[in-house]
Amino acid sequence: MTHSPLIGKLVETLQCLPGIGPKSARRMAYHLLERNREGAKRLSTAINDAVQHVDHCKTCRTLSESETCLICADHQRNRQILCIVETPAEVHIIDHSTGYNGLYFVLMGRLSPLDGIGPNDIGLDFLAQRLQSESISEIILATNPTAEGEATAHFIREMVNPIEIKVTRIAHGVPIGGELEYVNSSTLFHAFSGRHEL
Ligand code: ZN
Repeated sequence: MTHSPLIGKLVETLQCLPGIGPKSARRMAYHLLERNREGAKRLSTAINDAVQHVDHCKTCRTLSESETCLICADHQRNRQILCIVETPAEVHIIDHSTGYNGLYFVLMGRLSPLDGIGPNDIGLDFLAQRLQSESISEIILATNPTAEGEATAHFIREMVNPIEIKVTRIAHGVPIGGELEYVNSSTLFHAFSGRHEL
């Protein structure tokens, strides 16, 4: 180890980013210190602010710095359709590539009994309450086409069964095992518009 302790700590810390190993972390750390100290300060402030102030929207559970996120607060949106996704990043992608104008519910994960993730860990108790108190006429299940994503969609389908509500699943133009986040927007657009009733 030839780094000074502070550089070493920075290199080690940068490796908490997804896909960043020791080599890339070292390159980033030296880049920031040698060539972009202003950028480094802005980065540090932005991370600090976001971590301190971003929490979950109390209605849809996506990440938000206000109690109600901008989407839930937007009364121009169609409040009768609810799209269910696994992550906040997917809200952003669907909103930008499909022309979808309804509301969302973010599971913040997917059912995974082997990892001890059950229905309440992905907010399904809260989803049930929402369906009781709002007049939703269609639920779009946009969980990923992975085994766990499919099982989660199936579970929600069963849960919603007793309620008079249309349930659709996005079409699978998306590769099996592919995560929505990595699918290009025209594929996602077609998957969305070609959704079928479950
Ligand atoms: Zn929201």
